[in-house]
Amino acid sequence: MGYAKQIYARAAEILRQRREQAETQALMRKAQVLKVCPEIEEIERQMAQTGLAAVHAISAGEKAEEAVRALAVRNLELQEKRRELLAQHGFPADCLQPVYTCPVCSDTGAVNGHACACYKKLLRDLAYQELASESPLKLSDFNSFRLDVYDAVPNADGLIPREEMEAILRICQNYADTFSDKAQSLFMYGKTGLGKTHLSLAIAAAAIKKGYGVVYGSAQNLFGKLEKEHFGREPYADTESLLEDCDLLILDDLGAEYTTGFIKAAVYNIVNTRLLCARPTILNSNLTFSELETRYSDRVTSRILGNYAVLHFVGSDMRIRLR
Ligand SMILES: [Zn+2]
Repeated sequence: MGYAKQIYARAAEILRQRREQAETQALMRKAQVLKVCPEIEEIERQMAQTGLAAVHAISAGEKAEEAVRALAVRNLELQEKRRELLAQHGFPADCLQPVYTCPVCSDTGAVNGHACACYKKLLRDLAYQELASESPLKLSDFNSFRLDVYDAVPNADGLIPREEMEAILRICQNYADTFSDKAQSLFMYGKTGLGKTHLSLAIAAAAIKKGYGVVYGSAQNLFGKLEKEHFGREPYADTESLLEDCDLLILDDLGAEYTTGFIKAAVYNIVNTRLLCARPTILNSNLTFSELETRYSDRVTSRILGNYAVLHFVGSDMRIRLR
């Protein structure tokens, strides 16, 4: 299984840029050093010669070992001399070496014929960015959340929507202010048009501002993508592990997707894995708990009820009222 072709192409280009940058900067530092300490040039020329001489000695065969040993000693002397010269002029010993982003593979992406950890991470990060860029992440903020559109008189259940929503707004604001990748998970439910998406997007904006990786999407889009990838109808993009591993996952409109057996299992896996790893998730749904249970299984609802902070949105559809 592999990523989409363009992910590999982009990773290769990024590695090339990293190498180029490290090497250009090393050359620039060398030019600076040579200005005040031109003797370095001659020392490096001699070092290159000892290297060449060692190669010749090996191919000549005769007394090769002895010769190579002598050349190695000579090389060490030259290195020491270079180090002293650099120190005299106040340069660090390694200032002529390129500083690679990854010192393990020198930004080649490979060590001993295997993919370096930095390369694997780069591929994942690129797949993550790809997924995030597909999220309809039109961020909102708390200031634009209007409490005055919620009824101030009790509804049929005896709840005053404006008071309920004021409390929810406060909880969400506090959640955003104190957000970390170990924050609690939230389950927001209630009828459509009561501001679940608005508050989720305001939390997403705060988390992104703090530098966390947020994946936001409708259950329909994200699970649809997961399913297509799983059955090979779309190139692999590691969506499953991105949904499991991102700092904050926000699944909007859970229950609006066409729920297949595959998706039922995926919902449970993602909810469960993220709980086990203590990674926060925000689930939004128009479904009640019993509807949720019917659709996904009581395993899912019991995980949510037992571990998520539950926010019940009340009121009548704001989008209709605002119109
Ligand atoms: Zn590496």
